[in-house]
Amino acid sequence: MRPLILIDVDGPLNPWAANPKPPNYRPFDIRVGWWRKLRVWLDPEHGGQLRRLAEETGAELAWATTWLHRANTEIGPRIGLPELKVVEFHDAHGWKYPAVARYAYERPLAWFDDDFALDRDRCREFVHKRRPLTTALVHVDPATGITAQHLSEARKAFSSNL
Ligand SMILES: [Mg+2]
Repeated sequence: MRPLILIDVDGPLNPWAANPKPPNYRPFDIRVGWWRKLRVWLDPEHGGQLRRLAEETGAELAWATTWLHRANTEIGPRIGLPELKVVEFHDAHGWKYPAVARYAYERPLAWFDDDFALDRDRCREFVHKRRPLTTALVHVDPATGITAQHLSEARKAFSSNL
C-alpha cells in the first residue's frame, strides 16, 4: 500500500500565528469571495521539500484542508506543488478524522496539521483504530509552519515501518 502524506494549509504552510513571520515566507493576498481578500504567508520552498519527502518515502501527497479544491488553485502553484488529490469533509462531527480514516484506509499515513488537539479523544480513537498501520500525526505549530524537524519526523515514521 502506497503511503499517504496529508497536508493542511493554515498552520503548516501558512503560519498564521507567527509574529513576525519566519524568513523565507512571502505574503499573498488571495481573494475569498467577491469583496474580501485573505493574506496568506507561504514559503516557496515547502513544495520542493514535500515533493522530496514523497519521493524518498514512496508516498503520495494529498490535501487535507478546509481550502479543499482551492488548495490546488490558490496554494499549490505558489509553492511549487502539482495538482494533488483532495480529502473532502462531509461529516458533521469528528473534525477531519472520519474523512481521513476513510480516505487513508489501510495506507501508512503521515499528516501535517496544527489542530490535532481540538478533540483529543477522537484523535486517540483515530490512531487506535488504525493500528498496526503507521499513523504519524505531525503537529505543526501555527507559529512556525513546517520545519525540517517536521519533515524528518514524517520520514522517520515511514522508514521505521515500511
Ligand atoms: Mg490548520
